[in-house]
Amino acid sequence: MALKSGERVVVVGCGPVGMVLTLALYRKGIPVTLLERADGPIEDQRAAAIQPSSLEMLAELGVTDEIHERGLISPTFHYRDRVSGELVAEFDFSMLADMTAFPYVIQYEQFKLVETIIAEIGDTPDVEYRFSSEVTGIEQHADGATVSFKNQDGETETLRTPWVVGCDGFSSVVRQAAEIDFVGFTYPEKFVKIGSDFDFQEAGMAMCIRNFFSDPGEWCNLFKVNGYGPPGIWRTVFPVPADEPDEVCLSPEGIQGRLQKFFPKEGDYNIIYTGLYHVHQRVVETFHKGRILVAGDAAHVNNPIGGLGMNGGIHDAVALGDKLSRVIDGAPEDLLGLYSRQRHKAQMDGVQATSIANKKLMDSKDPAMRQEQLDAVRASSEDPVKARAYCLNASLFKSLDQANAVT
Ligand SMILES: Cc1cc2nc3c(=O)[nH]c(=O)nc-3n(C[C@H](O)[C@H](O)[C@H](O)COP(=O)(O)OP(=O)(O)OC[C@H]3O[C@@H](n4cnc5c(N)ncnc54)[C@H](O)[C@@H]3O)c2cc1C
Repeated sequence: MALKSGERVVVVGCGPVGMVLTLALYRKGIPVTLLERADGPIEDQRAAAIQPSSLEMLAELGVTDEIHERGLISPTFHYRDRVSGELVAEFDFSMLADMTAFPYVIQYEQFKLVETIIAEIGDTPDVEYRFSSEVTGIEQHADGATVSFKNQDGETETLRTPWVVGCDGFSSVVRQAAEIDFVGFTYPEKFVKIGSDFDFQEAGMAMCIRNFFSDPGEWCNLFKVNGYGPPGIWRTVFPVPADEPDEVCLSPEGIQGRLQKFFPKEGDYNIIYTGLYHVHQRVVETFHKGRILVAGDAAHVNNPIGGLGMNGGIHDAVALGDKLSRVIDGAPEDLLGLYSRQRHKAQMDGVQATSIANKKLMDSKDPAMRQEQLDAVRASSEDPVKARAYCLNASLFKSLDQANAVT
């Protein structure tokens, strides 16, 4: 069903998923109006790991040159046992070089991905950005939807559109307006992220730039990003017990204490930023209801261990960009049901299952179970066939195969 003159797809949310979708639609010649609550793109310091499967998709969209120039390439990642101090397993995506041009993760902060895509799209009437525009409700009709939003002057405006896509994150108003259930659970603990310019690798505390330290008491993930330029920023992520008040966790003593307990050194760490996050495992019952679609965190959330959440959202955006543009060009609307079923499968069997297993590997308390998990990941790293299977899963290539098997 072709768009009539003046009609545009409405995308809600200028995060990485909203922008990948906007670019994918723009490449297909579909005009987009993008509504974003903030007064410009947000400098969001959450995601940084872009997986090989997502790099392939971003290359198709023509935005990987800048990601390579400004990001940090990381073929390997390490699992460490903090209790014994040993390196449990090293995985190397280089072993996937026979099947992908991108056998590595690139550490590239999500706000930079948004910047890159906005620059790539440039100034065009086909993409209209409406910042300071907070969506407050949606009414569905047989052939479209009316989106209500508070505009930059605080007035309520409406937009009529044949299709609206919610890329508006965990608290998605679009998902709620469509009355789509968000099924799953929330962990009792929060996660704190701490960014410091201390060089953990130079200090011998890390041997690569993507590290997962397992510990039944307090695990840690340790990564490097380029930040605002060399020498870069190291990010640690720790669990925060449910009964620890936020202000205690985020106080200078709380932040220094947490870092010093795990990585003792002389003198304070220089802290660049901190963030405290609720953590969930949830997936929508459907990604498609009438004229409303959802993608990214609006459709699924998971714990960040393994760097999968945004990547799953990029996969949604690319799949939806393709299927929605085909429907607009006249293909049956059933394709959008297929989008929903495929991305639901990729989430449940891929991202959700893997991120839940990753967290168990980090924080299992039972000594026998913990040892069993560490032994299993070590065995996978030492056997080339198992290591390849592990890398295919961790890079989300397997989740794409799982999705494509759904018809
Ligand atoms: C500590 C941490 C580390 C992480 N690391 C990784 C990683 O390395 N790799 C990875 O793949 N994932 C990671 N993630 C997950 C990742 O950050 C998210 O999956 C990703 O941000 C989702 O992108 P999105 O575009 O769907 O939503 P968001 O990034 O949340 O963007 C939503 C946008 O919608 C806007 N918005 C919200 N409501 C409205 C409204 N009503 N009207 C208009 N606009 C609205 C918001 O302002 C925002 O700009 C991490 C998460 C955490 C907490």
